[in-house]
Amino acid sequence: MTKDQIKQAVLDAIEERKAEIIALGEDIFRHPELGYKEYRTAQVYQEALDQLGVAYQDGIAITGSRAVLHGREGRATIAVMGELDAVVCPEHPFADPGTGAAHSCGHNAQMAALYGVAIGLVASGVMAHLDGNVALLAVPAEEPVEIEWRQQLREQGKISFLGGKQEFIKLGAVDDVDMTVMFHSSPPRNGKPIHVGGSSNGFAAKLIKYRGQEAHAGGAPHAGVNALNAALLGLMGIHANRETFKDNEHVRIHPIITKGGDLVNIIPADVRIETYVRAATMESIVTASAKTNRALQAGALAVGAEVEIMEIPGFLPRVTNDGLDRLLKANAIALVGEDLVGPGTHGTGSSDIGDIMHIMPAIHPYFGGFEGQGHTKHYELTDPEMAMVLPAKALALTVVDLLVDGAVAAREIKAASKPRMTKEEWLQFWPEFCAGGRATS
Ligand SMILES: [Zn+2]
Ligand SMILES: [Zn+2]
Repeated sequence: MTKDQIKQAVLDAIEERKAEIIALGEDIFRHPELGYKEYRTAQVYQEALDQLGVAYQDGIAITGSRAVLHGREGRATIAVMGELDAVVCPEHPFADPGTGAAHSCGHNAQMAALYGVAIGLVASGVMAHLDGNVALLAVPAEEPVEIEWRQQLREQGKISFLGGKQEFIKLGAVDDVDMTVMFHSSPPRNGKPIHVGGSSNGFAAKLIKYRGQEAHAGGAPHAGVNALNAALLGLMGIHANRETFKDNEHVRIHPIITKGGDLVNIIPADVRIETYVRAATMESIVTASAKTNRALQAGALAVGAEVEIMEIPGFLPRVTNDGLDRLLKANAIALVGEDLVGPGTHGTGSSDIGDIMHIMPAIHPYFGGFEGQGHTKHYELTDPEMAMVLPAKALALTVVDLLVDGAVAAREIKAASKPRMTKEEWLQFWPEFCAGGRATS
């Protein structure tokens, strides 16, 4: 088969079964689950793979799975990733009434498209004409939320990282993978539903505890040490540092107080804060993180309280790959025309695909099909074909480009891309970062 014939066979297979792809994505949209708890989501996706006759290993990083489609030769392995988890958005029309989880980040579309890629490559029979393998990875926990609960999982040895992709790296589930393709959903920007390329902030997380001395708030405040005052001074210190951050570093520090005291008539002795420190580069994160710790410690010093800062691994910044972007962009344009495809920008959110991008070439374009702000109750699935079927086609065609004719394109892109870190360097990075930043005063 020629490349064009292979691509046409992939498109025909996806087109023929697009109702099934959309049905899976809509089912998951209506049954959102939070990270490391996506048991039902994993099950419905795996049942779909069963029907397709695709074998997989499940239970990776608690709820993740990995299925490998073998080509006629194994000259390269391309991972296609889909994220299983939802965010918390209790007022979303399809929120889970018990947990408040909702797919207001569109990960359901990723899972549908992942299944669509499987259909495109398996039902068409094209793997027999490709010279490399495809790893279909259903990955938990992209949203770095419920930090205290995940910290308990970390202490129990069940996970080491907030992000599921990071767990996949640690567990060796991407050891054989040469490059990764995936996408995120997003409402259209500048009238264009598809955006290819761009970068993003990374972040580090902190759990902060201020300890003071309780005392009767009316009768003997002089005998207390007010941990809430220490925390407020710490937060003011963070704000006072903001003017020192350069615009192009895109620093975002957004603490919340998760415990402000125990009772109104007792001087607060136990006050807790969570925060991220986000920025465009790890160097900026390290600098901003040190300033943040200094400010937090100053608050404690001012009133004689103690502060304990627990550093938690966050996500590395997203760094895109030009060679992969070019292939994906050409396929997207072939599918929908140039008018609907725009360039990516720098996003100030974060994703654990950033960690993958530091150890191998990877892409993370955006596809539309949703309206409303992400992570809000207004996030609505409006065009299932754009949200789920089109990305399945574009990703599957990109996989074909990479693996036809001796997988020459995959091998060229890999040779031209120097990873920023080896897996071993990555494994050391976050523990060292957290040990370096840990501070008590
Ligand atoms: Zn997301
Ligand atoms: Zn999100």
